[in-house]
Amino acid sequence: MCETRYAPVTEKVVEDLVSILGPSGVTTDRGKRAVYSMDETLPGFERDYIADVLCFPENAEHVSAILKYANEHIIPVTPRGAGTGLSGGAVPVFGGIVMSMERMNSILEIDKANRTLTTEPGVVTSEVTKAARDRGLFYAGDPCSGDISFIGGNVAENAGGNKVIKYGATGAHVLGLEAALPDGNLVSFGGKLRKDVTSYDFIHLLVGSEGTLAVVTKIILNLLPLPKCVTDLLVPMSSVESAVRLIPLITTEGGVIPSSIEFMDRNSIHNVEEYTSLKIPHSGAAAQLIIQLDGMDRKQLWSDVERIGDLCVKNGAVEVFVAEDKNARDRVWRIRKYVAEEEWTGSMPILSKEDIVVPSSEVSAFLARLPDIAKNHSATYNAYGHIGDGNIHITIFPDGIDPSADLHALAIPLRNELYAYVKRLGGTLSGEHGVGLKRKEYAGIFMNEAQIELMKRVKRAFDPNNILNPSKLVP
Ligand SMILES: Cc1cc2nc3c(=O)[nH]c(=O)nc-3n(C[C@H](O)[C@H](O)[C@H](O)COP(=O)(O)OP(=O)(O)OC[C@H]3O[C@@H](n4cnc5c(N)ncnc54)[C@H](O)[C@@H]3O)c2cc1C
Repeated sequence: MCETRYAPVTEKVVEDLVSILGPSGVTTDRGKRAVYSMDETLPGFERDYIADVLCFPENAEHVSAILKYANEHIIPVTPRGAGTGLSGGAVPVFGGIVMSMERMNSILEIDKANRTLTTEPGVVTSEVTKAARDRGLFYAGDPCSGDISFIGGNVAENAGGNKVIKYGATGAHVLGLEAALPDGNLVSFGGKLRKDVTSYDFIHLLVGSEGTLAVVTKIILNLLPLPKCVTDLLVPMSSVESAVRLIPLITTEGGVIPSSIEFMDRNSIHNVEEYTSLKIPHSGAAAQLIIQLDGMDRKQLWSDVERIGDLCVKNGAVEVFVAEDKNARDRVWRIRKYVAEEEWTGSMPILSKEDIVVPSSEVSAFLARLPDIAKNHSATYNAYGHIGDGNIHITIFPDGIDPSADLHALAIPLRNELYAYVKRLGGTLSGEHGVGLKRKEYAGIFMNEAQIELMKRVKRAFDPNNILNPSKLVP
């Protein structure tokens, strides 16, 4: 996009924002601005960027009025959910206004007859899940960050997570959206409908648009019947190859689509043990899988568990641990969640965090090549993630590199080699963490000029003054 000249946030601008939101809805406090200008991308990633003013709208009309004002005065606005993003999406590159959605935090309705939940965007994801469960229904979105992220952030990122293999990513659950356009107009698409071909599919254009096209102010989610029984298998595997080979067999020979298939390599498990008090069985195994099965009928589920357990043993499992009750299942998932979290508490500097996806048939080739790519750049890595979807997270650490070296510069040739290989396998840059600011310069590797031009035209159509989350997603 061409560079836009933004107006500065003067005292008058702050006064005008106060007249829209009231004094409690606006702050220029330096400490708060710093906190609301970061996300979880990489320590220090966002250090050059800070909002000039923070706004805390309480309803869609507030959001609309802020955008209308910013659009008229050419002030950049960065929407912000809970700030758990991993691609710098909520980082205010040009300063200006950061608009936090945290006060729009009510679940508005659960409609049992239509199986829908209508919510504001600032509700924590796990509260959506719980509210649905309390009414005997199931919200199937399940990012690992669900206890901290907001549902609006999930929509903006099309968050994936643990249950995509069976239930789809966030976008698969969105039936309707209300959003404020950059000029302040409020629009709504879809509703409590399960079919609607009356227009372009704006819902799924806005889902995953990373706050660059509109600010989501209300979401209508599809709910499902609540599975009556859930069982998790923790499966240490004798080799990474056997783990990858087993995954398609679960469906083709086992005859079930699990609700999750998660993968953790030996390094990931080792780090969890090192930085937490968890003791993980067979922690020296080459890899561990978590396979979750859910269903309505306990007898049927148990027969699936037995069949899949046997299949695991025949195909390289060292052992199969079955977790049925909630405590045991929580213990299994704690391992997986710690894999993502321990990296922040661990003492190792991080060179890069990747979120690539390859077709399921190429996961094996990808993981086989990864050690060489890392070695070529004097790096080590943890590989883990949603292997059932072909989505591998890789955290890459510098190995024996001078700690004062410029890690950002060192990561560039490594990423170039990694992405070239991912592209050759028919894969792509990010499965769920998004492009944001962090991956923008690499998006062109995976798109041709016509695709990039189309993205630019879509952005211009929504946001001709380029005020909404500028410098994100669009190469
Ligand atoms: C430990 C950990 C585990 C994670 N696990 C997963 C995982 O399993 N799967 C996964 O997909 N992600 C995961 N993430 C990444 C992150 O949690 C998701 O991207 C999440 O959807 C971000 O939500 P948020 O509310 O924190 O959004 P933020 O980080 O605040 O914002 C993300 C983007 O959304 C935009 N945005 C926020 N709200 C709105 C709105 N109302 N309207 C328009 N745009 C908006 C922002 O401008 C920004 O571009 C993980 C992160 C952490 C730290």
